[in-house]
Amino acid sequence: MKIIDISLPLNNQTPVYPGNVSLSVSIHHAIPEHATQLSTITMGSHTGTHIDAPAHAVAGAMTLDKIPLENFIGPCRVFDLSKEDDEAVTKKMLEDKNVKKGERILLKTRNSLRGLKEFYDDYVYLDGDAADYLAGISVMLVGIDALSIKKRGGDDHRPHTSLLSKNIPIIEGLNLTNVSEGSYELFCPPLNFTNIDGAPTRAVLIQHA
Ligand SMILES: [Zn+2]
Repeated sequence: MKIIDISLPLNNQTPVYPGNVSLSVSIHHAIPEHATQLSTITMGSHTGTHIDAPAHAVAGAMTLDKIPLENFIGPCRVFDLSKEDDEAVTKKMLEDKNVKKGERILLKTRNSLRGLKEFYDDYVYLDGDAADYLAGISVMLVGIDALSIKKRGGDDHRPHTSLLSKNIPIIEGLNLTNVSEGSYELFCPPLNFTNIDGAPTRAVLIQHA
């Protein structure tokens, strides 16, 4: 069994989506003679590798703590779309993959080849029609290797609204650089904040030999 970490490291250099709270970690209290150290962490709910709950983009919708843990734990498929030149993941690309109801789908794009150490405006996102397509199939979760699943500054909000209005959580900020296309077990429950729109997760893939 091999465990692959697909989460981003969290520290003061971690990039955040423009306009979000920046991540800050500092020592709150240290008593070296007692080997005691405590840190203060300041961050937004959509920091690093994180889950978007329906309440993020749909008024009055389900908050993070109400999403069943089943959505975050279980079989998943990674699609390697990193050779595609399009600016977005399209419905056509997904139609070729025979996506089924209840699947957990992670999208590897060119973003993972460039890496997520810096924020770039021209990241690959999920097209609105492709989001409608996945929502229509009723998948259990959709993930992407960008800090947002939606085009930067775009007017088409369906990448969030189509999925989240059907209570399909989204995982953003995945690091899929070292992951090839295939089937895995996914484990990515977010921190158990209540009544919130999202939270970071330590996402891992488990590959059975
Ligand atoms: Zn988010």
